[in-house]
Amino acid sequence: MFDSQKLKKDFPILAQLINGKPLVYLDNAATSQKPRAVVGAVSRYYEEINSNIHRGIHTLAERATAAYEETRGKAAKFVGAATEEIVFTSGTTEGINLVAQALGKGYLKAGDNVLLTLMEHHSNIVPWQLLVQDIGINLEFIPVTQEGFLEETEKAISRVKPKLLSFTHVSNVLGTINPVRELIRFAKTLDPKPYVLVDGAQAVPHLPVNVSSLGADFYAFSAHKMLGPTGVGALFIRRDVAKSLPPFHGGGEMIREVHLKESLYKDPPYRFEAGTPNIAGVVGFGAAFDYLSELGMDAVREHEDALTAYALERLSAVEGLTVYGPPSAEERGGVVSFSVEGMHPHDLATVLDQEGVAIRSGHHCAMPLHSHLGLVATARASFYLYNTREDVDRLIEALEGARKVLS
Ligand code: PMP
Repeated sequence: MFDSQKLKKDFPILAQLINGKPLVYLDNAATSQKPRAVVGAVSRYYEEINSNIHRGIHTLAERATAAYEETRGKAAKFVGAATEEIVFTSGTTEGINLVAQALGKGYLKAGDNVLLTLMEHHSNIVPWQLLVQDIGINLEFIPVTQEGFLEETEKAISRVKPKLLSFTHVSNVLGTINPVRELIRFAKTLDPKPYVLVDGAQAVPHLPVNVSSLGADFYAFSAHKMLGPTGVGALFIRRDVAKSLPPFHGGGEMIREVHLKESLYKDPPYRFEAGTPNIAGVVGFGAAFDYLSELGMDAVREHEDALTAYALERLSAVEGLTVYGPPSAEERGGVVSFSVEGMHPHDLATVLDQEGVAIRSGHHCAMPLHSHLGLVATARASFYLYNTREDVDRLIEALEGARKVLS
């Protein structure tokens, strides 16, 4: 295992005081902080090789193209895919929209069922609602137990017979790690086999993930939650699925030939990357893959597992505090949502901020899940590789202090 206290030194932003107190950053499910290696890669890109990719033949254009394409290889290796199965996007949200819009051009038709779950982030709900409006697909949802597990999934899959199943690998509210491999294996016993999309926004940053062995057709994730820059992400599209998938948007770079009334598209992944992409962001993403690969994702998971177990133990001793989601750390990622009796989560987050402790409060872009659990809002602490037991202690101290101020 690595030394988180030492790793903190790689993240300049964490060395500051907030409201006169050393910052404890526990909002990693929203976005992670960036190590010097990532910030440096982005600024070096602009200082040394900035140029547009795939078109110029001058030296800088070649260097920029090589740096961009090198990250595609790193992304593929990181999640167990082939290089051409990785499409760069602006993030998980765009990845899911890409799949929804592309499947909405012929694969999904009026009356077809798309099966989601009640624990989805809005970015895995709203793109499908757009298809309800556009082509009249039908949305169904796998329920979630009060403990935060998917419920009667096989029954729901058999009953709904979806043409597409789309669900999150790890819940950004409950922390639940869903049994992705088993769910996909079962879904693929249907005849005809549905496509399966996995929202990996909260998984790839925190767990070893191998999209090929999971059996997913599509798998989306974001760079900014895994030490990389904002505005960039990746979408895995299985090779044989990508071959017949139409583009999501059109423009330069994704075409082989353009005529006045029609065009011929490039092969995947370029078919899905129209226009000038976020080249600097992709280069920074590459540095994030390097940083995480060096630590090893097994070690990242082990660290967060231990820290989450410690946080659950300490939180359970705070009077009037309720933790949502699976009771044991092994069944969850490093996300802990909770409420404290008599205190609104926003007030709680405000008082904690005065102590330099950054947590999130609200519905965390999962309003249907909150409604299902009978909640309006929760407070959420989420951990990453630079968080320590001392950070958890500071959270608990601040919570105890908040109880005195607010109750
Ligand atoms: N899905 C989940 C589970 C998430 O936690 C998030 C980010 N909060 C998203 C999707 C959307 O990611 P992005 O905003 O990076 O597109």
